Amino acid sequence: MASYALFFTVLLVVMATAFRGWLESTLTSQSRDLLDQEWAAMKGYLRIENRPGPRGGPETFTPIWFFDPNDPDEAFIVEQLRRVYLLADKDGKVMQWSEVYRSIGFNSPEEIQAVIKAGKPQWWLRRNAAGAPFMIRAGVVYDERHSTAPDKSAEPFFVAIGRSVAPAEHILHQYTWVYTAIIPLTILTGCLLGWFLAGRGLEPVTEVARAAQRISGSNLSLRIPVRGAGDELDFLIETFNRMIQRLDNSFRQIRQFSTDVSHELRTPITAIRGQLEVALFTASTTEQYREAILNALQDCERLSQIVRALLLLSQAESGQLALRRNRIDLSEVLRDVVDQFKIPADGAHVQLSADLSPGCLAEVDRVQIERMISNLLSNALKFTPAGGRVHVSLGWREDQVEIVVEDTGCGIAADHLPHIFDRFYRVPHSGEETSPERGLGLGLSFVAWIVKAHGGHVEVASQPGEGTRFRILLPATAPQAAREESPQPVET
Ligand code: ADP
Repeated sequence: MASYALFFTVLLVVMATAFRGWLESTLTSQSRDLLDQEWAAMKGYLRIENRPGPRGGPETFTPIWFFDPNDPDEAFIVEQLRRVYLLADKDGKVMQWSEVYRSIGFNSPEEIQAVIKAGKPQWWLRRNAAGAPFMIRAGVVYDERHSTAPDKSAEPFFVAIGRSVAPAEHILHQYTWVYTAIIPLTILTGCLLGWFLAGRGLEPVTEVARAAQRISGSNLSLRIPVRGAGDELDFLIETFNRMIQRLDNSFRQIRQFSTDVSHELRTPITAIRGQLEVALFTASTTEQYREAILNALQDCERLSQIVRALLLLSQAESGQLALRRNRIDLSEVLRDVVDQFKIPADGAHVQLSADLSPGCLAEVDRVQIERMISNLLSNALKFTPAGGRVHVSLGWREDQVEIVVEDTGCGIAADHLPHIFDRFYRVPHSGEETSPERGLGLGLSFVAWIVKAHGGHVEVASQPGEGTRFRILLPATAPQAAREESPQPVET
């Protein structure tokens, strides 16, 4: 507010000063123009004649005003011209003057001589004894013989005429006074008005700020009510609400994650504890001891699996896990992984087939791509009952390579689909909760990260009871020739 008032004051003062300067120069140039006109008129009426002195004495120069005294207009003009008037010879001796000029004060002989020497008009602002201001125009006129074309023998005379500039000065004074009085008043009114309007304008902002203050980490469900004005503030509120929504989601995910981690860790720990209690209190034979220790070891293995996977995932997501990219033919990588799953597929009586276009080159991290395909294939086999089919394909889609892993398994219900890439998310009632092969719910999180780290894109389509199809697109770096080759189906 103070800076606004200061700015306002400076602006007003600068404007007022600039306007005063302009007014002053306009008034001055107006007076000068009028004096120029009067000077021209004066030259028409005044003649300085050279007359012989009385009784044959030396010649004297006599100023004579030529006009018709019977013409009231002319008489008036000459009277006006001679109101502020002074005539002096080249030695500075005053020859004719008006009373007004006398009250202003005659020019000194030096001043008069300087004007005659300069031969140019001079301007002064003088004041009479009462302090009234007069603009004086002084210049040179020559004796009658030379008044039109003065030569060296011409006799120069100093003539000064003037006019009162009291009205102009009065206007300037009035302006200054009025403005001096108006500026503080305007500033005061402006500040009060600004303060009032700013207060009113900022009232909704204050309300928004108060509402925002009520929102804390524990009540992120609160939202700032939208005013419905459709203005910038509503836009700000909506943006703010969307941000809170995102924060809420993140907080929820973190809470869910902590719950899931503790739950995941608690289950094997409880199991280990149970096995050890059995060993301690009930086992009597070596066989029983062995079995209890073996079970405990298995659970220990699961514990370290979880911890390893979590560590890897957090490293991956925080960008600490760098990809080791090489230009690789993806068909070879995929064929190797598919081959590894052949025996488990046969064991589960699931038909595993692959259709891999050779020469699909891409800059990828081989280990991560193997991990990605393994995760997808192990899920596909896990969720496809005996007699079902799992198919892997690799091909081109414009300048990308497309990997598809599809199965004819149990499928995923639509309301679970958006969450399957979340950490620890397992579709409930899929029958695997109680299974010893129960996954960690981290496999697809890895898939999502690997695809993202390679600058690719993953999508899933599923029909419960019919099957699931994962489609991955990765940026390719292959020669044009390789693209044009037709895919060669490889049955495994
Ligand atoms: P997990 O490591 O436990 O398999 P994922 O993250 O890989 O966890 O998968 C998350 C969930 O998505 C699984 O629990 C399963 O319910 C579902 N899912 C993943 N792939 C398939 C599939 N091919 N068919 C049916 N359900 C699947």
